[in-house]
Amino acid sequence: MHEEMKSGSCCSGEKGEGSPVPEKRLGWHEYFMNVAHLISRRATCSRAHIGAVIVRENSILSTGYNGAPSGLPHCNDTNCIIYQSKHPDGTVEENCVNTIHAEINAIALAAKHGVSIKDSDIYITASPCIHCLKVLINVGIKTIYYDNPYKIEQINELLRLSGIRLVQVNVASNLKE
Ligand SMILES: [Zn+2]
Ligand SMILES: [Zn+2]
Repeated sequence: MHEEMKSGSCCSGEKGEGSPVPEKRLGWHEYFMNVAHLISRRATCSRAHIGAVIVRENSILSTGYNGAPSGLPHCNDTNCIIYQSKHPDGTVEENCVNTIHAEINAIALAAKHGVSIKDSDIYITASPCIHCLKVLINVGIKTIYYDNPYKIEQINELLRLSGIRLVQVNVASNLKE
């Protein structure tokens, strides 16, 4: 016969016996942004590690992190191949040729499995670049939640014209790098 389970042992994990340590339950925004930070740790481009989670009605529909296309050499195995582009405002931007951005990978994964992401929201560990923002608008994302700001001045006009919402969710996460 198996020994009877001791009552009160499930869900503990704290040291000592008896009273469980009360932990604050995560809110939805905190929850999804923390998931995005966890996902970012799979990123393979040495320039930045970004994670993205597409969500509708509090369910995760798709996820992505930045890196090379499937099966191709990743930047952390080889090296980033950097190119420069100049914005109309004169600022010069550097990007990596190898890398697909996290948001686009999340959209690609949804497309691959036939998951509709219309009217969903996205959580990204950094605000999107202008190129990803254009795609997020077209797939019907309603609200973009981001943690770290990235060149927001470059996307302000597009945000205003499109009506897509950009909201900061700043989490104090030990998953952050
Ligand atoms: Zn790279
Ligand atoms: Zn991007």
